[in-house]
Amino acid sequence: MHMNFTEADLAFQNEIRDWLKDNLTPEIVAESKVARNAFMSRERLLDWQKRLAKKGWLCTNWPKEYGGPGWTPAQKYIFEMEMAKAGAPGTSPFGPRMCAPVIMKYGSEEQKRRHLPPMLNSDLIWCQGYSEPGSGSDLASLKTRAVRDGDFYIVNGTKIWTTTAHIADWIFCLVRTASSGKPQDGISFLLIDMKTPGIKVEPIITSDGNRAGTHEVNQVFFTDVKVPVENRVGEENVAWTYAKYLLEFERGGSPYSPRLRSSFERLKRLVEATADGDKALTRDTAWKDKLARMDIEIAGLEMFELEFYARLGSGQNPGPLSSMIKLRGTEVMQQVQESAVEAAAHYAMPFPEQRVPGANVEPIGPEGSDVLAPRYFNGRKMTIYGGSSEVQRGIMAKAMLGL
Ligand SMILES: Cc1cc2nc3c(=O)[nH]c(=O)nc-3n(C[C@H](O)[C@H](O)[C@H](O)COP(=O)(O)OP(=O)(O)OC[C@H]3O[C@@H](n4cnc5c(N)ncnc54)[C@H](O)[C@@H]3O)c2cc1C
Repeated sequence: MHMNFTEADLAFQNEIRDWLKDNLTPEIVAESKVARNAFMSRERLLDWQKRLAKKGWLCTNWPKEYGGPGWTPAQKYIFEMEMAKAGAPGTSPFGPRMCAPVIMKYGSEEQKRRHLPPMLNSDLIWCQGYSEPGSGSDLASLKTRAVRDGDFYIVNGTKIWTTTAHIADWIFCLVRTASSGKPQDGISFLLIDMKTPGIKVEPIITSDGNRAGTHEVNQVFFTDVKVPVENRVGEENVAWTYAKYLLEFERGGSPYSPRLRSSFERLKRLVEATADGDKALTRDTAWKDKLARMDIEIAGLEMFELEFYARLGSGQNPGPLSSMIKLRGTEVMQQVQESAVEAAAHYAMPFPEQRVPGANVEPIGPEGSDVLAPRYFNGRKMTIYGGSSEVQRGIMAKAMLGL
């Protein structure tokens, strides 16, 4: 898709490029090669986020009154595109892009005062305590209990697949505060300090060939954890509404198309690298067809995402459009990742040492092929987290098609 940028947009694009020259250090790029940010150390992630925060570019979706940049949809798109092209890591979404909109809409003035500024400045890392063993898609069946005891809740239970819990300072949790009525009726939303006694975090090691000593997801255990009642967002027992509101932001909080476009351009370069060989994919009709289809899918997604940001900019809720964007964004990204592994063939599986940041090992194969397999395996998660593809289709069938 070709967007017509104004002079001001082009000046903004140059400002981002200049800023990246000074701030996107080789160390930051090396640590974010496999996944956008999930495997970065806490220190490196905070360093990157603080650089953005200093410029006012961390909480880019926030309204101006809370310190957001007040960008137009075109500016938001340009920003994400430049970040993607430069290979910049993402930022932790759990505080700024998920919990913050809930605090802004349903939180107390004290919660806004206490929690929003540290998110804006990237002083802290948050994680999301929604899923439990047996309660993923069927989230309302969650069992972690919070029992009121004076000015505290006593929390017992477990959360699973909790991304970056091992480096997080705070977790926002859905907990059960009543068990009568429909499962959706007895849920509350708590903000819990990860340093509270009784919280244990255990790593879950996944299949993406992650590097020694790093991991992405965890299981979090709560045993008699005392949480002040003032840390409950909104009313008791009615947090299902807040939980769904948050998910709209989780699904559409960051555009997919700029990263997709940039991954697709890398895929095309990989395909072109085969041009002189016996098995030139550039001459293969099936490959030409496949690339053309992906190109069209990405162009379509770009249009939906611009509409999405225009909606947010005019104060509307994301709504079920976020399900459509999540569905297509993640499924097309998986197609691109899978095709990249196919195009690079055996070069997509180099020895593990080559993938260690700063390793003194000569890269083999076309540029960037060392991370293709880990990216492919890591990318399997995209159609599961935030609600699986099947669940998104269910939401769209109901909310958009009225089925
Ligand atoms: C890498 C990763 C990171 C994650 N990070 C977090 C996190 O930080 N915090 C957090 O709270 N959670 C996180 N999750 C959890 C994620 O939200 C759940 O895995 C997801 O909601 C699916 O739940 P489940 O794993 O229990 O699978 P299930 O719900 O058991 O689903 C199993 C299968 O059944 C299908 N299915 C289920 N219900 C339906 C239905 N109604 N219609 C059609 N098909 C259906 C699903 O599509 C899936 O294929 C993460 C997951 C992954 C993989």
